[in-house]
Amino acid sequence: MNRNPFTPQPGAEYRNQGGGVFDCIGAVDPEHADAVIMRNKASGWTFYAHGIGIYDDGSIDWDYSSGGRFGSVSGQQDAQEVFRNAVQTWGKAAQVDMMIEETAELTKELLNERRGRDHNIAEEMADVKIMIAQMEIIFQNAGEVEKRFREKVARLDQRLRDRKGGAGDE
Ligand SMILES: [Mg+2]
Repeated sequence: MNRNPFTPQPGAEYRNQGGGVFDCIGAVDPEHADAVIMRNKASGWTFYAHGIGIYDDGSIDWDYSSGGRFGSVSGQQDAQEVFRNAVQTWGKAAQVDMMIEETAELTKELLNERRGRDHNIAEEMADVKIMIAQMEIIFQNAGEVEKRFREKVARLDQRLRDRKGGAGDE
């Protein structure tokens, strides 16, 4: 099976090669810039997964893990809990407006970069990810988003293979 580098989406659920189910908690610690926080759904074991790869069947694995512990990471509240809190506190309309605003801010920063100006692409990408996680709570569609995400990644992979004239590297 092919394995490709992969960045899990916060709020989404993944099956690893061993059949375990893991939630992507998402928030990347600056000290673990190459890592994503994952939590074993069954045990609550939470850790940094480094060098994640995805296989053709949608399962994932990682090169190694670090910083494992039960419960919250680095004493922080679980990100999903924070997002649920935000939706409850400010409501659907305000958070949808915020999603629109953050995507516009990212658009602006991308244009700044293109025009050779100072930009804050990373900050606005983080804002957009945070708002997407809240949209999944509001629209109750994390499963559908994940399904479409995987289908689109597979289609993209196929298109890239077709382009190479079938010269895959199996
Ligand atoms: Mg912003």
